[in-house]
Amino acid sequence: MKNALVTGATRGIGYAITKVLLRDKVRVTGTARTTIFSDDLFQTGQFTGLHVDLEKESEINESLKPLLFNKTPDILINNAGIFIDSSIESNDENWLDAWDKTQQVNLRSSSLLSKWFINAHQKNNTEGILINVASRAAYRGDTQEYAAYAASKAGMVAFIKSVARDYSKKGIYAYSIAPGFIDTDMARDSVSVYGEEYLTRDSAFDSITKPDDVAEMVAFLCQGKVKHMSGSTFHINGGSYMI
Ligand code: NAD
Repeated sequence: MKNALVTGATRGIGYAITKVLLRDKVRVTGTARTTIFSDDLFQTGQFTGLHVDLEKESEINESLKPLLFNKTPDILINNAGIFIDSSIESNDENWLDAWDKTQQVNLRSSSLLSKWFINAHQKNNTEGILINVASRAAYRGDTQEYAAYAASKAGMVAFIKSVARDYSKKGIYAYSIAPGFIDTDMARDSVSVYGEEYLTRDSAFDSITKPDDVAEMVAFLCQGKVKHMSGSTFHINGGSYMI
C-alpha cells in the first residue's frame, strides 16, 4: 500500500484529495492548522491526522522532518495555503506582514517539505511523486490585493519545474496543479468581496468547479502512469483560460 502526506486535509481541496486517495487504497497522513479532521477519514483505518501550523518553522521541524526522513511517504501533496489580501496602498508594515505570512505558508514551507522529501528518497534510493497545488494566479496574476498570493503560487510552479529538471531522472516526478475558482471556503470568501457572479464570470461553465475535479486529477498523477509529464502544470479552471 502506498503512503501519502497531504497538507491542509481538513477541508476544501485537501479533504477531497484525501478522500479520493483513501478510496484508491493509499494510506494518508493529513496535516492541518486545526485538529478537526472529518470522522469519515478515520473510518477507513488508513488515515492519520497531524496538527502542524505551517507558519511555524519549529512545528514543521518537530513533526514533519522526522516523518519525511523516517517514514518517507511515496507521495507528497503540498496543498495547504492561505489567501490573504493586502492592498498596495496599505502601510508598509501591514503589507509586508501579509506578504511574509503568505510566502511562509504557501511557498517556503512547501519547498522545505519537498526538499526533505527529495533528500529522503535520494538517500533510500526510492521513487517519489511530488505535487504542488498552486493556482491559476501563477499564470494570470490576481488583483493587486492578492499580489503576494500570486507570487507565492508562481514560486511553487517554478520550484516544481526546477525539481523536475534535475530529479526526474533520479526518480522524483513533480507536478503542479493550477486550479481556478474551486467551490471551497477559500473561494467563498471572495463572494463577500466581489459577489457570487464573480466566481463564474470568466468560466466556460455556469457553475463553480468542485474540489472533486482537482482530487481526481491528483489521484491520477499519484498512480505514477505519466512520469514523462514531470514538471508540467495541470490547469483546472472551468475553461477560464485554455492552454
Ligand atoms: P481552504 O481554505 O478551504 O483549506 C486550506 C487548508 O490549508 C485547510 O486545511 C487549512 O487547515 C490549511 N492551512 C491553511 N493555513 C495553514 C497553516 N498555517 N498551517 C497548516 N495548515 C494550513 O482552501 P482550499 O480552497 O481547499 O485551497 C487548497 C489549496 O488550493 C490552497 O493552496 C489554495 O491556494 C489552492 N487554490 C484554491 C483555489 C480555490 O478557489 N479554492 C483556487 C486556486 C488554488
